[in-house]
Amino acid sequence: MSSRDEVVVALDVGGTGMKCALVRPDGTTVHTERHATDAQRGPEAVTGTILDVAEGLAGKARADGRTPVACGIAVPGVVDEARGVAVWSANVGFRDVPLRELARTRLGLPAALGHDVRAGGLAEARLGAGRDAGHVLFVAIGTGIAAAHVVGGSAATGAHGAAGEIGHILVRPGGPRCGCGRTGCLEAVSSASAIGRRYAELSGAPTTAAQVADRAAAGEPLAVEVWQEAVEALADGLATGQALYDVSTVVLGGGLAQAGPGLFDPLRRALRERLTFHREPRLVGAGLGDEAGCLGAALLALDTLAKESR
Ligand SMILES: [Zn+2]
Repeated sequence: MSSRDEVVVALDVGGTGMKCALVRPDGTTVHTERHATDAQRGPEAVTGTILDVAEGLAGKARADGRTPVACGIAVPGVVDEARGVAVWSANVGFRDVPLRELARTRLGLPAALGHDVRAGGLAEARLGAGRDAGHVLFVAIGTGIAAAHVVGGSAATGAHGAAGEIGHILVRPGGPRCGCGRTGCLEAVSSASAIGRRYAELSGAPTTAAQVADRAAAGEPLAVEVWQEAVEALADGLATGQALYDVSTVVLGGGLAQAGPGLFDPLRRALRERLTFHREPRLVGAGLGDEAGCLGAALLALDTLAKESR
């Protein structure tokens, strides 16, 4: 069997959809699939779909003359990567689901379970925009804000599987209420949904963060104000991140990073103003788009394989 024919089965499970792929050990994708998660069916049904899809991918690999050698699954929420358990998830409903063991049993292959943002960060740090940096902070900004701190190609998980929750750094005491229940968290000010909500509140018209970005770029005063508030709070969060992690590269991903220079230019300036003796990190946009989580799941599978064959 030539190693060229070996692939890992990779799944990135989100609240609405699953991005799935067969990935070679060198990180190239040979096949992709997308499936609906339909989270409202409940965690048992979702788990069943994950296992069916993973088994289907392994079958597809074999039908194409390839050898599936391991499986990696990334899920949102709190993930205990050491035990391979999806501990808790708001949008998928997982409560202590031993997904790694279930996948290993169903597929008869070594399996890994990871956190979606940490997996995405791992992929950006090893294959994407942070490729040449040893110390990377990946920050995903969408409906929420979460991060992954990747050092030497491995993402820190924390003692309880909850490392990287940079969206819940307190940046505006007494500010807007966050989904976590507290007020003034970074994601309550700077997430894409918070930006859209804030503008809608002030203007009275439903608006998305992308529209706010466009209007701010065109110089509309209200949009400029809301955008600036969000950028400054984000700079506060990133300055805290830099004080804690001292990374060489910050990779911004998620929907908000699509704003390009309209985000990166003022953010870079605001971050620079906040740093004193800390070195300024390189601030770059993500390179792998929405494939990052799935590629990260593949990397976790490959890492598991390497560990088991040692
Ligand atoms: Zn919060």
